[in-house]
Amino acid sequence: MECRKQGENSNCACTYTSCARHGICCECIEYHRSKGQMVACYFTPEAEGTYDRSIKHFIEDYKG
Ligand code: SF4
Repeated sequence: MECRKQGENSNCACTYTSCARHGICCECIEYHRSKGQMVACYFTPEAEGTYDRSIKHFIEDYKG
């Protein structure tokens, strides 16, 4: 896939850099969506760093 050639890009906000999906947004979204979760780039840096990708955690983070 053409888009995968841009993997390991740059703009990925996830600090779990050893993830095989890092920088490959389509796979990242597919993976977390299948688990009923959000992806890293929806969280504030502080919340992202906990690696809790649950929707509950996202809502708590969003409310501040
Ligand atoms: S959000 Fe999840 S799937 Fe995406 S790069 Fe980070 S750890 Fe990997």
